[in-house]
Amino acid sequence: MKLILLGPPGAGKGTQAARIAERYSLAHISTGDMLRAEIASETPLGIRAKALIDEGELVPDEIIIGMVRNRIQQPDCENGFLLDGFPRTIAQAESLLTFSDIDRAVCIEVPDESIIDRMARRRVCPACKRTYSVDIDEGDEFYCSECGTRLAARDDDKPETVKHRLEVYAEQTFPLIDFFDGRGLLSRIDGNGAVEEVAQKIFDLFEEEDPYRGDDVDN
Ligand code: AMP
Repeated sequence: MKLILLGPPGAGKGTQAARIAERYSLAHISTGDMLRAEIASETPLGIRAKALIDEGELVPDEIIIGMVRNRIQQPDCENGFLLDGFPRTIAQAESLLTFSDIDRAVCIEVPDESIIDRMARRRVCPACKRTYSVDIDEGDEFYCSECGTRLAARDDDKPETVKHRLEVYAEQTFPLIDFFDGRGLLSRIDGNGAVEEVAQKIFDLFEEEDPYRGDDVDN
């Protein structure tokens, strides 16, 4: 299965992508995580990307397209992959379809008014990269339930950067919904509700399409 996960920043793409990838044994390809790894290693690409990411801008198409094109040729993508955070522009989507076919683009929809609240609550484990939604009324000291590391907010989740990221999303990424809809590849999922409920809606989508998945088909 070759999937794309679409949706505004803060829709829960990363969290859902990890669940989908695990359930269907897909390689989880997050361009945001790949860029953050370049930043952590202080590579020339990482240094260039950090300046753009911290401003809420997109990294240039040709850099991201090259990264994804190489990544999907790795052996762990043979069983399929899930793209999380890519494509983010029409140019990226058009290029993607020249070097890979895609089975489905799933858009996680959340109302604008809840996005800012979701991003204010987002914390990430600097060690194992798990993402959490914390209760900000309970102070600002939270720890990873997996490895115990203190959680941190992402630099680009600062309110002034969030506002710009949402503008960039509306201008450059939102048009992808029509792009994939027009090609008969789009499914929409209501992103409201608990993480497990949203995950179940996504699984139902795939399992309704393939009535034999999970059944005992030996006969
Ligand atoms: P994410 O973790 O997906 O929210 O990505 C964090 C940041 O990385 C974005 O705000 C962009 O600056 C950059 N980025 C990630 N994916 C892409 C992409 N496909 N195209 C351009 N920039 C990207």
